[in-house]
Amino acid sequence: EAQKINYEGINHFDHELAYREQKWLQLENDLRQTNFDEDFFLTYQPKINLETKKLEGMEALVRWRHPQKGLVSPIEFISIAEENGMILSMGEWILDDALKQTRRWIEQTGEPLQVAVNVSPSQLLSANFVDLVISCINRHKLAANNLEIEITEEVMVEDTSLCNQVLSALREKGISIAIDDFGTGYSSLAYLNRFPLSKLKIDRSFVTNIHCNEGNYEIVRTIIALSKSMNLEVVAEGIEAQDELDVLNQLGCQQGQGYLFSKPLEAAEFEKIFIARQKVSSEQLTG
Ligand code: C2E
Ligand code: MG
Ligand code: MG
Ligand code: MG
Repeated sequence: EAQKINYEGINHFDHELAYREQKWLQLENDLRQTNFDEDFFLTYQPKINLETKKLEGMEALVRWRHPQKGLVSPIEFISIAEENGMILSMGEWILDDALKQTRRWIEQTGEPLQVAVNVSPSQLLSANFVDLVISCINRHKLAANNLEIEITEEVMVEDTSLCNQVLSALREKGISIAIDDFGTGYSSLAYLNRFPLSKLKIDRSFVTNIHCNEGNYEIVRTIIALSKSMNLEVVAEGIEAQDELDVLNQLGCQQGQGYLFSKPLEAAEFEKIFIARQKVSSEQLTG
């Protein structure tokens, strides 16, 4: 027996759903019309060694310049690209563009910069992913450790054995593997033993107000201690305040990233600020 819905709130909810569905379909349709080289570009956010204050690398973050909507956030379109399969070709383009750029910056600075590229679960588990990555590294005459791949915890739960195989192959070649948004996923700590990881990336939500939020402080302190005892590198994301940086320094966090240093920048601007200068002093970073 069908229940008659006469409650206005539910009606409103239906409209809301339909509206979202329509928005999604529109965006999906627009995404299909794009040309990567023309409609997408990468931004770069510096990764700073917290002890020496030197630039060690950068994270590539993709942007979509939509003809009507302006910049669309990757939070919106990556999930669509995952669902419609475009993530594979898009991911290939992102990797190629990031490595091409990194090659130039390594030449300009003479420093062994490392670029971090975000990789979606379906991309990581796709056929020939490792070969694709290796040939891209070779094409741009880079060393394997110039690349770091950022994955999220969910992929290690999704397909444990294939994931392990892929990560092992990447690590064997010398590519660094970082767990993004560490601490926010729903998986267990057991995978720190089971998977060949290089680095933990402490999620921004724990870094926020670490100087005055006791809970966050304890979580971050524990993650840093954990990574040290497991022989993993550790990086804090989302550092926005000097107070937060000071505490991370006290706790011995190796690397940091966040608006305090810089927002993600277009390549030309990143180059002006972080590459041309070569060495970035702490005054320039925080003053
Ligand atoms: P993520 O990999 O965890 O990236 C960090 C996000 O936090 C970025 O947002 C970055 O701009 C932002 N962020 C960095 N520092 C700060 C800070 O100090 N404060 C605040 N409030 N935010 C900060 P963005 O660029 O919008 O990317 C969002 C997410 O989209 C990424 O999260 C990643 O999961 C995904 N994404 C971005 N680019 C790519 C890509 O090329 N491929 C894939 N598969 N996913 C991507
Ligand atoms: Mg990331
Ligand atoms: Mg992250
Ligand atoms: Mg995040």
